[in-house]
Amino acid sequence: MPERTESDSRKLLRRLRDMLAVPGEGQDRLDRITHLIADSMGTEVCSIYLFRDPETLELCATEGLKKAAVHKTRMKLGEGLVGRVARTGQPVNTADAPGEKGFRYMPETGEELFSSFLGLPIQRVGEKLGVLVVQSKTARQFSEDEVYALDVVAMVLAEMTELGAFTSGDGAMRALHKQPVLIRGSSGQEGAAEGRVWLHEPRVVITNPVADDPLTEIDRIRAAVSELRVSIDDLFEAEQLDKEQKQVLEAYRMFAHSRGWLRRMEEDIMLGLSAEAAVEKEQSAARARMEQVPDQYLRERLQDLDDLSNRLLRILTGQGKDTGAEMPDNPILIARNIGPGELLEYGRKLKGVVLEEGSVGSHAAVVARALAIPLVINAGRIVAEALNGDPILVDGDQGVVHLRPEETISRAFRDKIAMQAEAQKRYASLRTLPATTLCGTTISLHMNAGLMADLPSLEGSGAEGVGLFRTELQFLIRSKMPQRAELAALYTRVMDAAKGKRVAFRTLDIGSDKVLPYMKPPEEPNPAMGWRAVRVGLDKPGVMRMQLQALIRAAKGRPLTVMFPLITEMTEFQQARSHVLRELHREKSLGHPVPETVEIGAMMETPSLAYAPKAFFELTDFISVGGNDLKQFFFAADRENELVRRRYDTLNLSFRAFLEHVVARCAETGTALSFCGEDAGRPIEALALAAIGFRTLSMRPASVGPVKALLRKVDLVEARAVIDRARTEGAESARPMLMDWLASLGTT
Ligand code: PEP
Ligand code: MG
Repeated sequence: MPERTESDSRKLLRRLRDMLAVPGEGQDRLDRITHLIADSMGTEVCSIYLFRDPETLELCATEGLKKAAVHKTRMKLGEGLVGRVARTGQPVNTADAPGEKGFRYMPETGEELFSSFLGLPIQRVGEKLGVLVVQSKTARQFSEDEVYALDVVAMVLAEMTELGAFTSGDGAMRALHKQPVLIRGSSGQEGAAEGRVWLHEPRVVITNPVADDPLTEIDRIRAAVSELRVSIDDLFEAEQLDKEQKQVLEAYRMFAHSRGWLRRMEEDIMLGLSAEAAVEKEQSAARARMEQVPDQYLRERLQDLDDLSNRLLRILTGQGKDTGAEMPDNPILIARNIGPGELLEYGRKLKGVVLEEGSVGSHAAVVARALAIPLVINAGRIVAEALNGDPILVDGDQGVVHLRPEETISRAFRDKIAMQAEAQKRYASLRTLPATTLCGTTISLHMNAGLMADLPSLEGSGAEGVGLFRTELQFLIRSKMPQRAELAALYTRVMDAAKGKRVAFRTLDIGSDKVLPYMKPPEEPNPAMGWRAVRVGLDKPGVMRMQLQALIRAAKGRPLTVMFPLITEMTEFQQARSHVLRELHREKSLGHPVPETVEIGAMMETPSLAYAPKAFFELTDFISVGGNDLKQFFFAADRENELVRRRYDTLNLSFRAFLEHVVARCAETGTALSFCGEDAGRPIEALALAAIGFRTLSMRPASVGPVKALLRKVDLVEARAVIDRARTEGAESARPMLMDWLASLGTT
């Protein structure tokens, strides 16, 4: 086989492009392409395998193998040499294919005749589309130049596949971004929504992967890289950076100035790619490498390179975030991840949110909850699959997304939404009624909040007040520390909106998963058990005092309720409380009005506090059990870790026994007790809490209706008896018996 030259490759690419420019059926095009590549590479075989579904590859065209095998031969991801290329995203180049580990013999293709094999992935920035293979009878390794040239061809095929060049009318050739896709993620916020995709960062579309004049393209890429370098240098100058941000920018700068990166892209261009396609080719290669790298640090650096490639593509194509596209009606936001401030900006116009990454406790999840928007997180591949305007169904209850759904699915889904709306109507009719059980006990239902956007729910949900106002949200959505006056104005608006209903303001709860963008967190091996919540407030009281002053000023003489997060022992509470008293004294001495009454409470989020001295229970005005944290410490199961966070049932009887102890301790001193973790908003869990003596529950606004509806149908004495019986019978959890009992009442 003759040595390949640059101009051979360019010629091949140009022929490819010209062929694709002529209108034609997808199959016909693929057949001609395989012929063209085999001819140009001097091989007997060229085959193209494309994905039928995310797990299965199909032989879609071939020159040299038996034609009868086309659309018949299929293999699973990882199966045979072709499957291996697809799975790893790396080439396989061998002189002895049948002798290669994992080779799978497919008699229908007649491929046993061919000894040499070169397979390359057809992929587009992280999206695997298929595999391109050339084979020949002569046993030989393909040269580096040949591998490189074929890789460039694979890149062009990927772009063309993306642009729909190979779809066929008879449906044999799958059109990308046209098929229904089911994506299973995790639930971030319950609820169901139907709408249209709105990409937070629209994909850059490349319409010209092949270029005629490499020198012009080289000028373009050099100019774009220079612009990129300048923009990164500007970032260094413009921003007040902490050490970590500097390190990230340093990494960006290093890549942007890397000669290797630019050189590789220039080589791609010399082989016939356009500047944009060259950037994408290197980006795809980096992504494929990223998946193989076990080292977290290196993976992050490759992620930096990925971000940088996106910036470069935007410079080259002029496609900024604002593509001029109109947001569709009922938009469902799709993003890899999103900051809380950005999500808040979209606000309630969104019908749902789907994130490829994210976690239950992430700030975006917290904001989605506050806005009561269904949220699915960990929705793998959603960003690559979805296109602006695609129809989409978001099932926040199950953590499932249907992209471009079949009509039958849509219909079933609409039924579900209608049923939920129906239930909401029923709950609305209970709004003004008390949550009084059949045995005559009234449970006081409050709501959790954190944003001004939550306050209208106070009226709509029928909650009696705000049992937990998470003040950190206001800190998390800003890019710098808020000022006292700003906070005071905000808290005033909250109290005004509450119209005299009680609002329990929780002081700043940062640390662990809640990291302020403008405050560098300390390096901690285990932040959930680290320097967080009231511990930060007590060690560095400046911010806490400023916040207390803002709260006192906002009250303008009205009653004020403050509580401290993660109180673990009595002394911490005493210290925190004395800060409130001191600020009250100070405000008074400045001549400012002080609240008519001040309640100072503690959140019980660690088991130790349940065994605090009696004096603590006497001193605190109330205790609010933060079940989310308490549960993670009780069961030693990280609330953020998908592997363990659902492992232990809240109705586990050991946990019940512990909570009963808390109820008894509060009863002994007459201390007011409430529960404000997520479990308070789950009807069966709420019932179990009420059965063991909790009389105040605070939950998401949307949960008030369902919880009230169930409480009004049950007798707590009977529920308590069921829990006790479960314990006597040696059960681990009260759930099965409670469920049976509720079923016998006809309530589930
Ligand atoms: C809790 O831990 O239960 C709680 C209410 O606080 P957060 O979820 O904000 O940590
Ligand atoms: Mg907590």
